[in-house]
Amino acid sequence: MPELPEVETVCRGLNQLTSNQVIKGGEVLLLSTLAYPFSVDQFWQQLRNVRIQTWQRRGKYLLAVLENAAGKSAGYLGVHLRMTGQLLWVKATEERSRHTRIYFECDNGQELRFVDIRTFGKIWAIPPDINPETIMTGLQKLGPEPFSTDFSVSYLQQKLSKSQRSLKTTLLDQRLVAGLGNIYADEVLFRSGIRPTVFGNTLRLNQIEKLHQMIIEVLETAIASGGTTFSDFRDVTGINGNYGGVAWVYGRKDEPCRVCGTLIERIKLGGRSSHFCPQCQGERDSNFRNNSNLN
Ligand SMILES: [Zn+2]
Repeated sequence: MPELPEVETVCRGLNQLTSNQVIKGGEVLLLSTLAYPFSVDQFWQQLRNVRIQTWQRRGKYLLAVLENAAGKSAGYLGVHLRMTGQLLWVKATEERSRHTRIYFECDNGQELRFVDIRTFGKIWAIPPDINPETIMTGLQKLGPEPFSTDFSVSYLQQKLSKSQRSLKTTLLDQRLVAGLGNIYADEVLFRSGIRPTVFGNTLRLNQIEKLHQMIIEVLETAIASGGTTFSDFRDVTGINGNYGGVAWVYGRKDEPCRVCGTLIERIKLGGRSSHFCPQCQGERDSNFRNNSNLN
């Protein structure tokens, strides 16, 4: 599942390749991918002959800022990749994958294709003069971006002081901080030396400072290496990232910890698998008593 670094990688690729491209037309091949508007005709009415000015990322959402021929706002194109969505910038002559859900014909014989095997991904066309949040309601629930000044140690401390659930589950909550998913949350907790099962309100200030630093560092490192190899992530030209080769704990159940050699454990928390080193990530805390949770 694409997380912040993968979506950021896609965003940067789209800015390089599709800025100033005009959407000539296209086709909706799977109606359920279209989140707004509900009519295909209206979707293309909004998008035909508009220019992609720039792409922005917010959490795991992508937003293309659009303008018309007169340089006036033509609204936004919103995308959420969810589990398996990919945006690919390819030659129109290239054969379309059968998992292509929507494609956009652009200048110079190029196409922007939304390919999505699991079909959970969504696309919105937001009309001008409407705040995207009013239609893409998931945007309203997002906490601060991890690289923004709003995401400070004191913000994190204040939020976690009220948190009576496992830290792993809390990190996945997009209201705390936007963009963290299962892979990077495991990696962040390993780098911070904190068990995923620990409750947020039991953390000391030095642990919160470390956690804050590692959230930023792990995500920056992953962006620098172009996203992960997990979940078959591909950038907009179809290239695979390379972060997966250096994962500390994610996907490494029963493999030796890269620091101490202890075997990495995997448990279920909030329905998601969590990987950790029992040695490097502190003592088993009092909130975690049930050995039957181990799998
Ligand atoms: Zn270890």
